[in-house]
Amino acid sequence: MSSDCLFCRIVRREIPATIVREDEHTLAFRDIDPKAPTHVLVIPKTHVASLADAPDASTLGRVLLAAAQIAKDEGIETSGYRTVINTGADAGQTVHHVHVHLLGGRHLKWPPG
Ligand code: AMP
Ligand code: ZN
Repeated sequence: MSSDCLFCRIVRREIPATIVREDEHTLAFRDIDPKAPTHVLVIPKTHVASLADAPDASTLGRVLLAAAQIAKDEGIETSGYRTVINTGADAGQTVHHVHVHLLGGRHLKWPPG
């Protein structure tokens, strides 16, 4: 846990969020500035600054499998969805606690901007 990390604070319920799924290792909540009808962020509960700092396969695997489950729950499994991890400045990472963006519910252009 990192005391001043925004997403760690959401894990600790110090900042409100619309939580859509939680298990022992992961938390998922709606993005505050959604870019698609479904825009959920999935994070490990332990503080990991970015993909570059990922400690092990299970931490990442659990986050990705949670995203796939949420896509089912949101009803976008058949229509399709995108999972994105921004890492570092060029990718526009603004919150330094690794998170998977789950985006769906509309057609998504490729490549992203
Ligand atoms: P990134 O740019 O990949 O680091 O993504 C950070 C995401 O966190 C952005 O899509 C923001 O809209 C989102 N975000 C920032 N603050 C909050 C918050 N308090 N609750 C939910 N999402 C947030
Ligand atoms: Zn954190």
